[in-house]
Amino acid sequence: MQKPLNPTWNLENIFPNGSMSEEFAHFLEQLVEEITTFKQAVSKSKTPETISEAIQWSALLEQLQSISKKLRQAGAFVGCLNAQNVKDQKAKLLSGELKQISASFSTALTLLDDQILHFPDEVWQQFLQLEVNEGVTFPLNERRSKAKDKMAPQLESIANELAVDGYHAWGDFYNTVVGRMSIPFEHNGTTQQLSVGQAQNMLNSGDRNIRESLFHSYEEAWQSVADLNSTILNHMAGFRINLYKNRGWDSILKEPLEYNRMSENTLNAMWNTIEKNKGIYVSYLERKAKLLGIPKLSWYDVDAPIGNSTKKVSYDEGAEFIVEHFRKFSPRMADFAVRNFEERWIEAEDRPGKRPGGFCTSFPMSQESRIFMTFNGTASNVSTLAHELGHAYHQHVMNDLPLLAQSYAMNVAETASTFAELIVSDASVKAAKDPNERLALLEDKVNRGVAFFMNIHARFIFEKNFYAERQKGLVSVDRLNELMTQAQKSAYLDSLDQYHPYFWESKLHFYLTGVPFYNFPYTFGYLFSSGVYARALAEGAAFEQKYVDLLRDTGSMRVEDLAMKHLGADLTKAEFWQSAIDLSVADVQEFLRLTE
Ligand SMILES: [Zn+2]
Repeated sequence: MQKPLNPTWNLENIFPNGSMSEEFAHFLEQLVEEITTFKQAVSKSKTPETISEAIQWSALLEQLQSISKKLRQAGAFVGCLNAQNVKDQKAKLLSGELKQISASFSTALTLLDDQILHFPDEVWQQFLQLEVNEGVTFPLNERRSKAKDKMAPQLESIANELAVDGYHAWGDFYNTVVGRMSIPFEHNGTTQQLSVGQAQNMLNSGDRNIRESLFHSYEEAWQSVADLNSTILNHMAGFRINLYKNRGWDSILKEPLEYNRMSENTLNAMWNTIEKNKGIYVSYLERKAKLLGIPKLSWYDVDAPIGNSTKKVSYDEGAEFIVEHFRKFSPRMADFAVRNFEERWIEAEDRPGKRPGGFCTSFPMSQESRIFMTFNGTASNVSTLAHELGHAYHQHVMNDLPLLAQSYAMNVAETASTFAELIVSDASVKAAKDPNERLALLEDKVNRGVAFFMNIHARFIFEKNFYAERQKGLVSVDRLNELMTQAQKSAYLDSLDQYHPYFWESKLHFYLTGVPFYNFPYTFGYLFSSGVYARALAEGAAFEQKYVDLLRDTGSMRVEDLAMKHLGADLTKAEFWQSAIDLSVADVQEFLRLTE
């Protein structure tokens, strides 16, 4: 790998000149035209009554895939622009424009779905047998059954259009609020103004005084905008609840479960098995408190490094480390990572004005992806980087599939990412010679278990309870704080001293308008990938291809079928989940042994 690496990304080869790009403006114009043509074609066409009509009709599916590709390309670009500079006003306008465009496409899709819905069963079955539909029968059947579950197409169209200003806009507004926030941080007599992302990184400082004082000013900062964010959260939820009611859906979990192509039995089997195994994590938190020399951990201590380790790795070292460990498992994955670093597909620079958090996005027209994060040299930054590279690799191995078969849900989206994280964290624990370093790395790994089994469980519990109350009316700031604190206490088995009541504000995921409950899929992905990882360890080099096959199927089946086909596992039973948790529990046991 050529070093030094440049930690900023290159978007110029996608569209030159950022938000001022004329090429991009032109691209959007063409896209609008294409959608208009598509809309006209869809409204002129009727549900096929015979197979020969169906063959003609299938041209619409071609257009659908072409437009979807372009929309994803545009969405990824605008997403990158907004993330790299939250003050880029032109990027915000573009994002609004793109939402309008997407909404008008959704309207056409609703009409198309109505036609899919009304195919006579016999014709539909024949249609699926056609060669052109090879590889997309699953997504097509899924479209048909989803269309059956919605309101009449005219009503869905109206809902889509209203969603631009009445729903998605709330998510944008949240980003505006967060982008304007600055958190004062006093240290050594000077006060620094931190962005939310910078503060979140610094909350993992090895110095408890820093964590404690920063956490208080962090909570105060969220408190000062709580009226705005509670309004946002309440109205986003209100929109969803009303939409569901009009569709005749009775469960708030219906949308996220269907979106994730999983059953409620699977979700329950997962959480129940986790709950049975939480005891050892409480022992871990108690041990960690002892090691930090405090009676009980607080929220801001959970992710703190043990001891005063201020060991930092440079971006170059982090990259080298990831590539080296990927290579042990899969040379193809390692080469792909090198390409990401060398061709500057990653924005990792630590600077103010960037959006907090990390993500990976893909440009289907360019067959490239981009990763966004803020790298300041911690072990957890290295994990995040590996995580996002996992996402990128997942997309990479699916690039040649039909676009309709490339859509995987977020629970399996998190499988590849977490798998990549596991490779890096596990290999690094094994490679560590110094016992303190080994302990620190092991701890990082165990902490991830705490995040998936406790932190994310808290988010899930909160969201479930919040929706139950929101159904009855608006939920006040005080009540949101209460619900959040209760959820945290329940998820952490009451093992912490101070909690984070404003977590409902500081966690971006509650404000994403894609789907609600952007939490359990992470835990699913973590455990699912633990299961996959155990296979990889057992099967060695032979697993590289099997892994790719599994990833390629993620857009073509429900998760229960995916697990059965590639792992021979039944996700609705505790057994699979227990076997996956066992790997994590073994880490905790080793940690407890090493710190006896
Ligand atoms: Zn992820």
